[in-house]
Amino acid sequence: MNELDQKVAVVTGGSRGIGLAISRALAEAGARVAVVARNGDRAREVAAALPGGGHQGYACDVADPAAVNEVTSAVESDLGPVEILVNNAGITRDNILLRMKDEEFDEVIAANLKGAFNFTRAVARGMMKRRSGSILNITSVVGLTGNAGQANYAASKAGMVGLTKSVAKELASRGVRCNAIAPGFIRTDMTAELNDTQVENLKVLIPLGELGEAEDVAGVARFLAGPGARYITGQVIAVDGGMVM
Ligand code: NAP
Repeated sequence: MNELDQKVAVVTGGSRGIGLAISRALAEAGARVAVVARNGDRAREVAAALPGGGHQGYACDVADPAAVNEVTSAVESDLGPVEILVNNAGITRDNILLRMKDEEFDEVIAANLKGAFNFTRAVARGMMKRRSGSILNITSVVGLTGNAGQANYAASKAGMVGLTKSVAKELASRGVRCNAIAPGFIRTDMTAELNDTQVENLKVLIPLGELGEAEDVAGVARFLAGPGARYITGQVIAVDGGMVM
């Protein structure tokens, strides 16, 4: 079923991990995907390899509002009006609170939270005018629970929950939906540094007994982006094997 036929979707951090799986899932649903990442070569390679045609890659640091506005204009002129935005780009700079440097806190907030705000603001005007659009924010279960050693990251992800609900309330009357997905532990570069013992210890906390795959998140993103979710807004859906209920 090509439920997103020819719709233009921007996926930030679409070049690796969860974002790459989301880019693929939206492309399989018929969307034309703008893959955004700091490494533009990698973004362009990924876009060229997605199923279907008409995808493009763009270099952009989501933390830079001017760059975000520029890339949004480029996407609109290359592909057309943005109908789906997935704010997925994210980083970690873990440290215990007393050792956390200002830069570690600021960089994570800038990329994860401000980045989502930057892109949401850039596409919102067009979506509101057309009275149609779907915005998805990839937050994290640690934004709901907190996590020792991740004060910066958890705060950025909790901020994304507030952003999601505020945007959902503000734009609902203009036909624009905004939802969030809160992944648990998903196998990507971000979690590759966990050693076997850490993975075994984590599995005990996950009722379904396994770490998730990027495709587990992508399936939910495809659903939330599309017409099957037309009556869903302001929600945070955990994709975490039941870890947080
Ligand atoms: P990943 O494998 O490290 O990939 C991160 C992606 O984001 C890359 O494409 C990267 O490309 C891009 N990126 C990072 N900073 C950027 C910036 N400032 N501007 C533009 N692009 C940027 O991460 P992942 O595990 O797939 O995670 C994706 C999202 O899911 C993140 O928001 C993360 O917080 C969230 N999440 C992940 C897990 C997990 O277990 N993996 C759990 C919960 C939530 P460049 O380096 O080229 O910029």
